[in-house]
Amino acid sequence: TETLHIIGGGMAGSEAAWQAANLGVPVTLHEMRPKVGTFAHQTGNLGEMVCSNSFRSDDSEQNAVGLLHWEMRQAGGLIMATADTHRIPAGGALAVDREPFAETVTAKLKAHPLITVEYGEITALPDDGHWIIATGPLTSGGLAAAIQAETGADALAFFDAIAPIIHADSIDMSKAWFQSRYDKGETEAERTAYLNCPMDRNTYEAFIDALLAAEKTEFHDGETAKYFDGCLPIEVMAERGRETLRHGPMKPVGLTNPHQPDIKAHAIVQLRRDNALGTLFNIVGFQTKMKYGAQTEVLRMIPGLEEARFARLGGIHRNTFINSPTLLDGQMRLKSKPHIRFAGQITGVEGYVESAAMGLLAGRLAAAEIKGETLNAPPAETATGALITHISGGAEAKTFQPMNVNFGLFPPVDLKGGRKNRPARYKAYTDRAKALWTVWLAG
Ligand code: FAD
Repeated sequence: TETLHIIGGGMAGSEAAWQAANLGVPVTLHEMRPKVGTFAHQTGNLGEMVCSNSFRSDDSEQNAVGLLHWEMRQAGGLIMATADTHRIPAGGALAVDREPFAETVTAKLKAHPLITVEYGEITALPDDGHWIIATGPLTSGGLAAAIQAETGADALAFFDAIAPIIHADSIDMSKAWFQSRYDKGETEAERTAYLNCPMDRNTYEAFIDALLAAEKTEFHDGETAKYFDGCLPIEVMAERGRETLRHGPMKPVGLTNPHQPDIKAHAIVQLRRDNALGTLFNIVGFQTKMKYGAQTEVLRMIPGLEEARFARLGGIHRNTFINSPTLLDGQMRLKSKPHIRFAGQITGVEGYVESAAMGLLAGRLAAAEIKGETLNAPPAETATGALITHISGGAEAKTFQPMNVNFGLFPPVDLKGGRKNRPARYKAYTDRAKALWTVWLAG
């Protein structure tokens, strides 16, 4: 059997190696640490968690990330099994004792008869063979340059600039309305691509005050921030002058509020459809480094968003990621060089759990290919399938930014009833996912 080469032994690469090897495929795992370090990693261990020690909610009935835990456990995932072994009390969350966790991941991979670990940085794209690139948010400069040479400069980002993303069904449509600026757009899809939330002068002034006062996150040491003028955090724009936002992302021009056609809004917040399903909207130009708690408070001051549920809060981080919707096929292969797959955070998912899940999937897809078998990606109704469907085509390519797993990525379940029915709705999502995941694993 041919060897699968994996570059990067983090969350995704470790899981991919484990999955492929357990399917009988020999694996060489290439990891640059400890020879070459990053500003965030501290050790030479595989599967090192660089920041928090939490895998977030472990509730597989009511929470999308908990469902992802469940799916990975069913698939014999190394990351989940090791997290369970080194679990520490944290209520409903899955928190792990990070050092023994990474030591166990390293020991299990090294003890596997089909896995070889080679230490050293890879700086070029391989010409042939079977490869997975899982080098993460801090992919080394040499390899990033090689990827950029292949994909084009615009298709590889070095910072994310994440605007908050909101579940469409939590937006108050008695205040917000659909309209694109100057009514641009020919098709129904284009005309419903934007939602608008109006602000009068008092609300705007109070909003600017809250923005300036909100607590912000600092960049980590070594994570030097270079904002491009096109994606300044909103609070930085507000610091430049109280009117800056009203002349930037919040400009009230080219739009008419059908709820109050005679009143000219002082400012307008625009939301843009974030996925093909139309279940998620991002706030245009609202990338921010406000702390999460402050963010929800400030953003719920926007008329129409008082009850907003956030699929993802905003942020700006050092984060290397490719434009997966244009570059990858449904098998996670680079369209222009299909012997190379991408997995983990570099594909534009966000977080330890999501990255491990994309490693799990890439490892299985690559192993099947090497063995001459056909394996389709799991359906979009599963958590793993929702993520791969989103990054490989469901997301808007032009504004693609990293994504956490959330129910907004799933094809909607047919269960209305608003907030009261939410537990039943989430249960319907997770029941449906579990049934389909079980079928996918068996096939
Ligand atoms: P990684 O786990 O980073 O693994 C990539 C591996 O590739 C690394 O071991 C690296 O050494 C190696 N590598 C890189 N380039 C090369 C090369 N050229 N040759 C060989 N090896 C190479 N996620 C959370 O869920 N919670 C958090 O609190 C959190 N905080 C974060 C804080 C910071 C500062 C950063 C940068 C990220 C944070 N993340 C957090 C994101 C988290 O790091 C990722 O979600 C997860 O680790 C990604 O898994 P991965 O396997 O894709 O990348």
